Amino acid sequence: MTRSIRETRRGRRSKPHFTTPFSLPQLGASMIPGEEIIYLDNNATTQLDPAVIEEMLPFLTNFYGNPSSGYMFGRQVRQAIDLARERVAALLGCDPGEIVFTSCGTESNNAAVNSALQLDPNRRHVVTTAVEHSATRVHCETVSKRGGSVTVVGVNAEGHLDLDELERAITPQTAIVTVMWANNETGVLFPVEKIAEIARRKRVWFHTDAIQTVGKIPIRLADMTINSLALSAHKLHGPKGVGALYVNKRSAFKPLLIGGSQENSRRAGTENVASIVALGKAAECAAAALAEENSRVRAMRDRFENGVLERVPDTFVNGDRAERLPNTSNLSFAGIESDAALIMFDRDRLCCSAGSACRTGSIEASHVLRAMNVPPERARASMRFSFGRFNTEKDVDKALEIIPAAISKLRAMSAASAKPEPATV
Ligand code: PLP
Repeated sequence: MTRSIRETRRGRRSKPHFTTPFSLPQLGASMIPGEEIIYLDNNATTQLDPAVIEEMLPFLTNFYGNPSSGYMFGRQVRQAIDLARERVAALLGCDPGEIVFTSCGTESNNAAVNSALQLDPNRRHVVTTAVEHSATRVHCETVSKRGGSVTVVGVNAEGHLDLDELERAITPQTAIVTVMWANNETGVLFPVEKIAEIARRKRVWFHTDAIQTVGKIPIRLADMTINSLALSAHKLHGPKGVGALYVNKRSAFKPLLIGGSQENSRRAGTENVASIVALGKAAECAAAALAEENSRVRAMRDRFENGVLERVPDTFVNGDRAERLPNTSNLSFAGIESDAALIMFDRDRLCCSAGSACRTGSIEASHVLRAMNVPPERARASMRFSFGRFNTEKDVDKALEIIPAAISKLRAMSAASAKPEPATV
């Protein structure tokens, strides 16, 4: 598979442009060379930044030394990891020593909960929310099955938590409060600073899944009382399969993976060097692009959302429109099923999600929208559109052509199929 990255008129790198067909026959058949996709699914994953690819490649070729080796060829690799750690720390506003590299966001979330449960065997209680990603939600279910207990705090119709309820849920047996910073489906932001304060007052570990937040809004952990935070490279234009866990330097930590002394004995296993280097570069690029993410990306999302609302009647925005990520728009189109809309959009090469990517193919309405008390038919009609810094205004224009046409076609089809058959005599 060969891809070339085109430069746009403004000098901004655009989405991947396929110059030769895929060598895999089953993929080649479905992808026309040179064809462009309209990628509005940046909460599922993001395009690799070319600067990131450039920086990681030498660590897949020439610099293959083991960072734990004592000779120069290993030490050079160690230095590259150290630089990555500094870059991630700079993005988060914390010390480099507080960053632990992991294999993904899921591992980072699992490691935090696992550590808190290991630290004090008398504390087997977890407080979490009803709208967490499966990386937390399913892990908490497992904690319950293994003899722990979990309190799940609900949200209101706008997707917000009741902080008093959350505080009441914390008991002397609580090991950890784990609450996501931004919701992956609606983009709704939780007030993690306040939650961290509540947890600190109650002397309970506070972990936040910031996998959708990092790189999208400014973060300064040095000014907050968060004990741990999870991030994932592939949500910020880095590669899949690498993440990081921030662990506050004053917080004790028990590792999930046990073995070698890598990552200062907080995560055993030979480091995924190229990916860690890539995450470092992605963090550096994200820090440089933060202002853009908050202005150009937000403006694009808003033009898209207002444009859809104007053109498609009976469309609803799910989640608080004010307190949310600048890139996410979750819309319900009355009278359609999101799985059918996904297929229609896909024909026009528009990529978005029905709720969350992990649920695609499932007919169950999103647990996030159910928690928000969104009526089931509206929840099943929900689509998530998420923008990123490689999107262009042209993507918005195309989406505003494709979506109204597809939705009115789907509505016409469902109206036709709902018409009673003429009686036969
Ligand atoms: N948490 C949130 C909020 C996410 O959006 C995701 C990915 O979609 C994850 C956790 C899992 O991250 P990863 O794919 O790196 O394991």
